[in-house]
Amino acid sequence: MGIFKRKTASAGSLSEVQPENRVETERIGRCFCAHGHDLFSQEATFSGHPGITLKLRNERQEGLLSLSPIIGDKDRAFFGADWAPGEIVEICCHVCSEPLPLYNQCFCGADLVAIFTTAGNDFANCIGICQRIGCTHAEINSNRHLRVDSRSGFHKA
Ligand SMILES: [Zn+2]
Ligand SMILES: [Zn+2]
Repeated sequence: MGIFKRKTASAGSLSEVQPENRVETERIGRCFCAHGHDLFSQEATFSGHPGITLKLRNERQEGLLSLSPIIGDKDRAFFGADWAPGEIVEICCHVCSEPLPLYNQCFCGADLVAIFTTAGNDFANCIGICQRIGCTHAEINSNRHLRVDSRSGFHKA
């Protein structure tokens, strides 16, 4: 669908890699866990939009991760834990702490988990997020529920 991002740029370099003449951005309008909890929260905001907030955990520790809802924006913020690059974590709903269902395998060898963009646990309308810390690969399996923002470029808050 042309929206897979395979850039290897590290997180945080967004403002340098965006084309200057880009006038539209797409962002995820809604996202849910398998129990229908809204995954957006104000834990972190990205260009003024609430982030998609997930609980990460493994046998060592747990913390929160906020992802930018803007398609192609690899910006993300970690809270409460100090993960090592390459570490694989369980990705859970920040409301009910239930692990998100597995969706697919990432090219890095870890699993992608599903964030649903409709409230019906429909894998035809989901976003796959990689469980590996440092892998920013995401697969978007729907564009029907994306919102398009018209603006003249990104303005980081
Ligand atoms: Zn939940
Ligand atoms: Zn991966």
